[in-house]
Amino acid sequence: MPRSSLARSIDGKAAALALRAEVAAEVTRFTAATGRVPGLAVVLVGEDPASAVYVHSKGKATIDAGMQGFEHRLPADTSEAALLALVDLLNADPVVDGILVQLPLPSHIDADKVTTRIDPDKDVDGFHPVNAGRLAIGLSGFVPCTPLGCLMLLRAELGDLSGKSAVVIGRSNIVGKPMALLLLGDSATVTIAHSRTRDLPAVVRQADIVVAAVGRPEMVKGDWLKPGATVIDVGINRIDKQEGKSRLVGDVDFASASAVAGAITPVPGGVGPMTIACLIRNTLVSAARREHYQMEKRL
Ligand code: NAD
Repeated sequence: MPRSSLARSIDGKAAALALRAEVAAEVTRFTAATGRVPGLAVVLVGEDPASAVYVHSKGKATIDAGMQGFEHRLPADTSEAALLALVDLLNADPVVDGILVQLPLPSHIDADKVTTRIDPDKDVDGFHPVNAGRLAIGLSGFVPCTPLGCLMLLRAELGDLSGKSAVVIGRSNIVGKPMALLLLGDSATVTIAHSRTRDLPAVVRQADIVVAAVGRPEMVKGDWLKPGATVIDVGINRIDKQEGKSRLVGDVDFASASAVAGAITPVPGGVGPMTIACLIRNTLVSAARREHYQMEKRL
C-alpha cells in the first residue's frame, strides 16, 4: 500500500565522501607513524570503456586519499601467463598493499585463475577463495567492496540489524552471496532469492531489508515491498533513451518503490560511490595489517 510520504533517499554519495575523508585522515596518521604511504595497484586488460571509467575513478580516489596508485594498462591480447607474471610481481612488491585486477577480463584469460593468484592478504576486492571462506566462517579478511558498502549504508540507516528480515535478490559471488553473509553476521534473518525463486514478489514483501543485485532494469516494483522497508539498489543498468542518449537505472523501480519504502538508495548516487570508498578503506586496512605483521616479524 502506498504511503502518504515518499521514502527517504539514502545519500550514498555523502556517505562515501565521509568515509573517504576518514580514510584520508587515517592515511596521514599511518604515514607519519610508519614512514610509508599505502599503495594500490590496479590492472586493466583491454579497452572496455566501462572498465576504463571504473579504473580512472579508483585511481583518483586512491590519490585523493593520500595513497599511491600504480596503474597497469595492458593490451587486450595480453596472454594469461603475462598477466599472472604481473600479479606475481605485485604480490612480491613491498610498496603494494592492495591488488585489483579489473573484471571482466578478455575471454582467453581464466579470471578465476587470476583472482586465485593474488596474495589473499593483498586481495582488497575480497574475491580470492580464501577471503570468501574467511567471510563464510566469520574470520577477518577482505570483504568485497560493494556488499561492504551496502552493509555500511544499512547500519547507518537502521542501526542494529539484529532480528530484521532481509531478502537479498541475486546470488553472485561478488555481490549476492557476500551480502547475505554480512547480513547474517549482523544477525538478520536472511533469505537469498534468485532466478529460480518462486513468487519473488511474495518473498520480497516479507522483508524489512531488500537488497536488489540482479542486473535487470527496474524489476522490483513498489507493490512488492513491505511498507516502510529499507531498499538497497545495487543494480547499474544503462537503458536507451530517445535521440541516442542513455541513462542509468537500478534494479528497483525507484518511482513506485519510493511510494512504499521507508528509505531507498537512488541510482546513481547510492551504492556505486560506496564501492570505491570501501576499496580505499580495504587498501588502508591491508597496509595496517601488513605493517603489523612486519613488526611482529622484526621483534
Ligand atoms: P550477476 O549477473 O552475476 O548476478 C545476478 C543474479 O541475479 C544471479 O544470481 C541471478 O540468479 C539473479 N537473477 C537474475 N534474474 C533474476 C530474476 N528474474 N529474478 C530473481 N533473480 C534473478 O550480477 P552481479 O555481478 O551480482 O551484479 C548485479 C547488479 O549489480 C548488476 O546490475 C551490476 O551492474 C550491479 N553491480 C553494481 C555494483 C556497484 O558498485 N554499484 C557493483 C557490482 C555489481
